[in-house]
Amino acid sequence: MRFKKFCNNCRRFMKVITPNIMMTSTYIVALLFRLLRQDGYYVSCNMFNKFKDNKGNFKRLLCNDVKRILSLYEAPHFRVKGEDILDETLVFTTTHLESVKSQLSGPLAAQVTHALKQPIWKGLQRLEARHYFPVYQEDASHDKVLKFAKLDFNLLQKVHQKELSDTASWWKDLDFSKKLPFIRDRVVACYFWILGVYFEPQYCFARRMLTKVISITSVIDYIYDVYGTIEEIDLFTEAIERWDMSVVNKLPKYMKISYQALLDVYTEMEQNLGKEKSYRVQYAIEAMKNQVRAYHHEAKWFHQKYIPTMDEYMPLALVTSGYAMLATTSLVRIGEILTKDSFKWLFSDPKIVTASTVVCRLMNDIVSHKFEQKRGRIASTVECYMRQHNVTGEEAVHELRKQVTDAWKDITKSASTQSKGSQPCTCH
Ligand SMILES: [Mg+2]
Repeated sequence: MRFKKFCNNCRRFMKVITPNIMMTSTYIVALLFRLLRQDGYYVSCNMFNKFKDNKGNFKRLLCNDVKRILSLYEAPHFRVKGEDILDETLVFTTTHLESVKSQLSGPLAAQVTHALKQPIWKGLQRLEARHYFPVYQEDASHDKVLKFAKLDFNLLQKVHQKELSDTASWWKDLDFSKKLPFIRDRVVACYFWILGVYFEPQYCFARRMLTKVISITSVIDYIYDVYGTIEEIDLFTEAIERWDMSVVNKLPKYMKISYQALLDVYTEMEQNLGKEKSYRVQYAIEAMKNQVRAYHHEAKWFHQKYIPTMDEYMPLALVTSGYAMLATTSLVRIGEILTKDSFKWLFSDPKIVTASTVVCRLMNDIVSHKFEQKRGRIASTVECYMRQHNVTGEEAVHELRKQVTDAWKDITKSASTQSKGSQPCTCH
């Protein structure tokens, strides 16, 4: 592999290291590959073929160093469809790490166990940072970085604690837990979820708004799933379509507080944004209407005791996952970089949003379908798949996990092709 063969995208980053290091350090090659793809640069995966011998097996020498294998394990999570060498690298490194993890000790053992459970690409940035503190502590060369990283973590955590306290007060004032005792009180979990969307201090207002939206959406989900009669949810759906406080008196008492709380949040968003950006709130409202329409459709199936096929259920289940609604709402308070076209694009079913929604919906159903069945909810994607393909629960979960893996590959591909100046890499 000669340096001059790399395309411009690759060269931009690779110029910081010497070609000699590229040839010799598996650790560095895997790390750079991951960082390039993570940053949206679609570099070729062909360099991974160099880790195989002439019989097509991975070189045994690679296994001499766990840190090297760990670096080689993290990289292929940034694969796209058709990159067989990365699929093989992931199987090889996973198998090796699984086989040695019980012989390890200290931070390296913790790092390997954590990575096998959740690779870096799929982790929440702040939690991953916290996880690395004890790892970096072992190496004195990291002392200064670690000191600043801890300071940064603790300062920002104070900001998050204050936000959570304010949001919890808002929630307590609404008194949902007394007025709607059938719901799960999830405001802290909702706030934590939104921290995964954006954790930076400048998104304080956006985070508060999105937490409010997801918390009330969770209440509405309960109303449609387990509490409301079909007549009541017909009324609620109609009220959401109208989006007007003047219709609130047509609703049952228990629905009035959620309706009013929901509309109040969007009014607060609009007042904060100012007139020139109020179109964004209209997109967010439209996304919420889509969400409620899908809840309504799903509830009607449930009341009719209709169990849809997987093909019927999936399009609806993608909407009820809430992902598209939250993606739209999450952008309302982002700065000047977004335009009306950005929101139009969001409403055009872009592949990156669909793939993210598939991950969200299927992983949710894989881990919660037994609980949801007890709750009396409509069949999840797991049951729909079992019924349509006449397979066991385990077989259905196995298949759905494969679909999740494919969706991650689509996310990686879309993220790199939509990132700055990234065309598919041509260097081989
Ligand atoms: Mg539901």
